[in-house]
Amino acid sequence: MGILDSKVPAGPLADKWTNHKNHIELVNPANKRNIDIIVVGTGLAGGSAAATLAELGYNVKTFCYQDSPRRAHSIAAQGGVNAAKNYQGDGDSVYRLFYDTVKGGDYRSREANVYRLAQVSTNIIDQCVAQGVPFAREYGGLLDNRSFGGVLVSRTFYAKGQTGQQLLLGAYAAMNRQIQRGKIKSYTRHEMLDMVLVDGKARGIIARDLVTGEIERHSAHAVVLATGGYGNLFFLSTYCMGANVMAAWRAHRRGAFFANPCFTQIHPTCIPVSGDHQSKLTLMSESLRNDGRIWVPKRLDDAKAIREGKLKPIQLKEEDRDYYLERRYPAFGNLVPRDVASRAAKERCDAGFGVNKTGEAVYLDFAAAIYRYGKEEALTHGMKGADDKEIIKLGKQVIENKYGNLFQMYEKIVDENPYETPMMIYPAVHYTMGGLWVDYNLQTTIPGCYAAGEANFSDHGANRLGASALMQGLADGYFVLPYTIGDYLSQDIRTGAISTDSPEFDAAEADTRARLEKLMSGKGLHSVDYYHKKLGKIMWNKCGMSRNAKELQEAIDEIAELRADFWENVRVPGTAVSKNQELEKAGRVADFLELGELFAKDALTRNESCGGHFRDEYQTPEGEALRDDENFKFVSAWEYKGEPKEAVLHKENLVYENIELKTRSYK
Ligand SMILES: Cc1cc2nc3c(=O)[nH]c(=O)nc-3n(C[C@H](O)[C@H](O)[C@H](O)COP(=O)(O)OP(=O)(O)OC[C@H]3O[C@@H](n4cnc5c(N)ncnc54)[C@H](O)[C@@H]3O)c2cc1C
Repeated sequence: MGILDSKVPAGPLADKWTNHKNHIELVNPANKRNIDIIVVGTGLAGGSAAATLAELGYNVKTFCYQDSPRRAHSIAAQGGVNAAKNYQGDGDSVYRLFYDTVKGGDYRSREANVYRLAQVSTNIIDQCVAQGVPFAREYGGLLDNRSFGGVLVSRTFYAKGQTGQQLLLGAYAAMNRQIQRGKIKSYTRHEMLDMVLVDGKARGIIARDLVTGEIERHSAHAVVLATGGYGNLFFLSTYCMGANVMAAWRAHRRGAFFANPCFTQIHPTCIPVSGDHQSKLTLMSESLRNDGRIWVPKRLDDAKAIREGKLKPIQLKEEDRDYYLERRYPAFGNLVPRDVASRAAKERCDAGFGVNKTGEAVYLDFAAAIYRYGKEEALTHGMKGADDKEIIKLGKQVIENKYGNLFQMYEKIVDENPYETPMMIYPAVHYTMGGLWVDYNLQTTIPGCYAAGEANFSDHGANRLGASALMQGLADGYFVLPYTIGDYLSQDIRTGAISTDSPEFDAAEADTRARLEKLMSGKGLHSVDYYHKKLGKIMWNKCGMSRNAKELQEAIDEIAELRADFWENVRVPGTAVSKNQELEKAGRVADFLELGELFAKDALTRNESCGGHFRDEYQTPEGEALRDDENFKFVSAWEYKGEPKEAVLHKENLVYENIELKTRSYK
């Protein structure tokens, strides 16, 4: 076991980033023209990084598996992006955003990174507004904000329920400018299958053209992985269907350490699972918790009657409802962080209070907000004698203006009108805080290989607060990586173009071809989805919202067994030299089958509860997560050694000099 060097600069917290930028090496503009950078992934992190690096003058090649960068998973982001602008005058500051994020992550993130994130958060908003991102505005024209969980201020900037889409259009437009200038060469429908190291440095990738099936070699002086998160490991999640861990896992197999794989965010407000036929879950944005109240019936017999269709939720009197978040956490109420809200929903459903047929749903109710807004509107419009019907009509309009597209989505999926009857929600896998370990410069343990956005182990510790993934991805891409990568590339100004005609590229390509061949040669007993679903069930049941040593050990054994079966018996029809979506899926699931085992091993090693990692054995008498700061105040970074059971743990000890470590409380 070794100790990792995070390369956090010395000096006072607030000055670290500025001092670092002032002292790292630069590459002059003429030399930038001779340097090539590969950016794999063109979501918000990769898109913003690629556009900025090209604007700086580097030659950039981008890769994504979709048919356009415009279709990256980032487009799904609904609720908003945080920034410490304090536009509301409600006491926000860089320090408070930093503090909330460290506390939100249950004190398992790196102080210096989080502080830098909070500092550059304000630049993100300016940058995006300049690009024309249509953030919501107040009546007077100023940018509007709303609140997200785990904080007591309003600092979330949003564009209705489509914030990711609008931000991605901004980044995509910035990329397009560079594509037109010839500074970005964009490879769409291309999947990175391996990373190539020359003299220990990342010097390129092996990619497959997903349309023709051709294997290609691409070289560069540095490789940036911005390939998103790995929540699809659970099969059912709110991620896009293609989201995967392949690029990060290939880098891991080549020497990049994988950090905190078991830190996963389970989002409390998703549309509940309806049956075994499903392949995808849908998020109902956290922004809805600004106005929606979460409840279940107080009495078990009422819950049973609702489940059996004998009672409707709107028939239940106020005093018969248990607004359990408001009851348990009066200070934060419905806006407690996601891990806390998710566990509380599970606790109520496990106790028999669930409200859908499977007993795995709670209500998110807008009736009170509709009435409150309606009254306000009636007063504003001088309708002093408005009756309840008029008030409710006005209130519904306000709610529609705020969340209309989310309500419409819910109605289309569930076939119930959420303006009339409370939404049903349940927690689902939504985000992965784990990822490639990176130092302060966002460099992995492979020199020249960088990771940005959700693909790195990030700044979120053991739980991500809402609206902070977009902030981190854009901070990495627009404002951090373009500086820090220059420090590394300044050593490469005399290197010249990297040839793809080298033994290292030969070997990596041969490995890739052999792996594809192996995937094609299974006995054909079961489809790829068969294995993916089985893996997902193990993950959800044994490594999900709560974990314990016995079940984690079972998961490790079961996943290893499933992996062996997969390689022997999987069925991949078609050929490897043409378009073959089953082959694409097979490659991704093969990596999930390794990551899943490492995930369980990481969770088993961490004998404490923190954030989204809840071990049954480590909880307070009130059922809250019980951290062990003395023994587990570290980032676990795993080194690949073959089978996941051989992976070696390295630790990055976390130092808190500017924040007091406390028991996380939202009461
Ligand atoms: C439904 C939903 C709503 C959300 N809402 C919010 C929100 O309101 N606020 C917030 O802060 N966060 C939100 N999030 C989280 C946030 O959207 C993501 O964390 C973030 O967008 C990830 O961005 P990224 O650039 O790191 O990765 P992604 O957007 O996932 O992009 C990954 C890129 O990598 C490419 N790629 C992957 N593997 C390969 C490979 N092997 N070869 C080539 N290319 C590859 C893909 O093609 C894609 O271009 C939400 C998430 C979901 C699921």
